Amino acid sequence: MYFRKASQYLAEELDIKMPEGEVSGTWFVENNLPMVVRCSDCGSTMALPSALIDEDGDIFCSSCVESY
Ligand SMILES: [Zn+2]
Repeated sequence: MYFRKASQYLAEELDIKMPEGEVSGTWFVENNLPMVVRCSDCGSTMALPSALIDEDGDIFCSSCVESY
């Protein structure tokens, strides 16, 4: 499987540029994106900037990605 960081996925697929460093709650609201997402494999929640997204748009945490 092929994973991209959330920031890279958003830039390439949706043309949304995630700010560097700490992302404010306002940014998520303005871009209509969730601040917290759930790993589609283990179900744990994480902040969107630390999520990894596969080619189908499914969201994974870093520990699940490492086990692939
Ligand atoms: Zn996971």
